[in-house]
Amino acid sequence: MKKLAAGNWKMNGNRAALAEVAALLAAHPTPACDMLLCPPTTLLAEMATLAQGSALKVGGQDCHAKTFGAHTGDVSAAMLVDAGASYVILGHSERRADHGETDALVLAKAEAAIAAGLIAIICVGETEAQRDAGETLAVIGAQLDGSVPANATAAALVLAYEPVWAIGTGRTPTLNQIAEVHNFLRARLTAHIGVEAANTRLLYGGSVKPSNAAEIFAVPDVDGALVGGASLKAADFGAIVAALT
Ligand code: PEP
Repeated sequence: MKKLAAGNWKMNGNRAALAEVAALLAAHPTPACDMLLCPPTTLLAEMATLAQGSALKVGGQDCHAKTFGAHTGDVSAAMLVDAGASYVILGHSERRADHGETDALVLAKAEAAIAAGLIAIICVGETEAQRDAGETLAVIGAQLDGSVPANATAAALVLAYEPVWAIGTGRTPTLNQIAEVHNFLRARLTAHIGVEAANTRLLYGGSVKPSNAAEIFAVPDVDGALVGGASLKAADFGAIVAALT
């Protein structure tokens, strides 16, 4: 399967930051992996125009479960497609925490995204308290069960394991802990969507940077990364892309 380096700019970046995209494309015109950036919605169409004809795909950071309507401030999957997106991140822990998103809501959004032709990147991950209590696998198993559409295919789904305590903190799980979770996710996904699970990309996310990317990518069942802070700079994200072969 083609691995995936996905960058999540979160609520960072203005139009001037698109210079980083030009630099990334100049340095990595033909990466070995799939390369994706998910900017704030304000930059999506312009970034998509910049990426046209290149190896870079662009994606949204969230979408509404409905196609259109009276939902002030929201954006639908069809609108993301119209702006040039081919992926959307769903159920990121910041959205689960900031906006009270439940597994059921993430499931509805994922169904809408896939129906609109987007690839849904569904995020799961435990808090530090849950890990300390030995609940990690139970928590992410329940999140997977509750938020992954039963008819999802490998072509339309990416699953991202993002321990909440590792996001933006500089801390990462041990390689053995990452291996344990990814092995568990592959098996749980197989129970959920059958043979499609074998080719569904499982990303690790949480403080991935150039200095730790290669060792994380060598962990079995890690098929790429979801990168926050280090995706904002072309040099850092490019080094992560280059580490993913
Ligand atoms: C994220 O929020 O998806 C993330 C992985 O952030 P960071 O790389 O900054 O830890």
